[in-house]
Amino acid sequence: MIYDLHTHTTASDGKLSPDELLRRAIDRGVGCIAITDHDTVDGFLEIDSGHSNSIRVIPGIEFSCKWSRQNIHVLGLNIDTHNEQLADGIAQQKNARLQRAAAIAQRLTKLGIPDPMPEIRKASGGTIGRPHFAEHLVRCGLARDTRDAFRKYLGAGRTGDVGHYWPDLERVVGWVVAAGGTAIIAHPAHYKLTQTKLRALVEDFIDAGGRGIEVVSGSQSDAVTNKLSGLANDYSLLASCGSDFHEPDRRWSDLGSFAALPSRCMPVWREW
Ligand code: AMP
Ligand code: MN
Ligand code: MN
Ligand code: MN
Repeated sequence: MIYDLHTHTTASDGKLSPDELLRRAIDRGVGCIAITDHDTVDGFLEIDSGHSNSIRVIPGIEFSCKWSRQNIHVLGLNIDTHNEQLADGIAQQKNARLQRAAAIAQRLTKLGIPDPMPEIRKASGGTIGRPHFAEHLVRCGLARDTRDAFRKYLGAGRTGDVGHYWPDLERVVGWVVAAGGTAIIAHPAHYKLTQTKLRALVEDFIDAGGRGIEVVSGSQSDAVTNKLSGLANDYSLLASCGSDFHEPDRRWSDLGSFAALPSRCMPVWREW
């Protein structure tokens, strides 16, 4: 059975609608999928229940937060999407994303780029993220592709990297726990932390109520998988795996396309 526990839809910065995502997952042999859009559960709520015989769908979310001046992503898996505390958290994130988008837009207009907000509001079907700005910059001919737009305008240290809009790690883990979900550190290797810092993150995460880490994220190297499965074992953390799928494009892993969890791991789904 293939579990893909990290995916995006048009409710955030993914390119497929929730139903298109499920059809593709079923075609690719995925037996259980978590929809984990950035700071929203709208994609999950939109699903047509007609798929339910072919695939199990886990309600999820990917929250943005900060820890030690780092931007960290926390997955909430198997959450009660109607929980009130979760809904409050989602509302706060929506507001934070809107404020951040306005700040990014303002910075870009200072570079002489016409205000992108009207177009971006039209182009995004849900939560607004930097990929929407990236696509706008590509449409305007200011970047070759989204990667180039991140490199020139939106990535760490660039004009559009405004930061400081996210709540602390403890807060978002609290929302996931309140909603009965399992909090997981998403793609731990992406943050490029030293081993010491990564351990400090894991320790604070556990103190906040976090339960697991994404041991396999997309097409990462075996060396990274080994390191992360060792970390999970050292701290008795649950292990998760997912493609972080956004669109059918070579840049992203496709649905279900990633290495199996090492056998020494305790998969997060054992509890479901
Ligand atoms: P945000 O949620 O607004 O902070 O934007 C983060 C999202 O941007 C990630 O989830 C990715 O989907 C995308 N992203 C981050 N870095 C890059 C990059 N270098 N090239 C293309 N997309 C990126
Ligand atoms: Mn994304
Ligand atoms: Mn992420
Ligand atoms: Mn993601």
